[in-house]
Amino acid sequence: MTSRDIPHYETRTAICEYGRSLLDDDLTTGTGGNLSARLDEDRIAISPSGIPYADIKPADVPVVRTDGTVVEGETEPSTELPMHLAVYERRSDVGGVVHTHSPYATTFASLGEAIPASHYLLAFTGSEVPVTGYETHATEALGDAAVDALGESYNATLLRNHGVLTADGSLDDAYTVAQMVEYCARIHYQARAIGEPEILPDEEIDRLRGKLDSYGQ
Ligand code: 13P
Ligand code: ZN
Repeated sequence: MTSRDIPHYETRTAICEYGRSLLDDDLTTGTGGNLSARLDEDRIAISPSGIPYADIKPADVPVVRTDGTVVEGETEPSTELPMHLAVYERRSDVGGVVHTHSPYATTFASLGEAIPASHYLLAFTGSEVPVTGYETHATEALGDAAVDALGESYNATLLRNHGVLTADGSLDDAYTVAQMVEYCARIHYQARAIGEPEILPDEEIDRLRGKLDSYGQ
């Protein structure tokens, strides 16, 4: 099968590549975590469930309607499909969703502690990374808890005793947010280990968000 025979080849390829990056960047272990991207009003592409990231090919990446029906791909979609669909439904600004088990952020998720802005790059996600109550993985209840925590403007939330969920305008941006959450979690953990980090005030986070939006060439 050539790339021209595979609908949404580029997006499905990006899901394969970012899946491998999850392992390379230490944002998950094994087959943990999942990623998706919005294709149009009624369809998303999402990583398949329980397949080693190294083995996933673009044609394996399921294309799923917002009602959950699979329209492309022979594999089962991620078991966290309800959580991804809940985010796309609630947030029309979201084009990509990433779920990780990244270790420093998940440490705070297991404590049930939101991550505050002890580093300026936390502004990628909002004034803090909130944390949901505990819900069993792969349930509608977890999706509800995640969208409630994200609200209208957060780009990330911790999933209690589980991991991280990020959502942004594109899959690329949602992936960057996942990296930033883990970096800020690590700095916060390290700072707390030897002292009491100062937390940036909300006004500064607002200013930083404007600057980060226009950062780069
Ligand atoms: P899937 O392999 O079904 O995507 O599940 C991984 C996971 O992280 C569940 O929360
Ligand atoms: Zn998970």
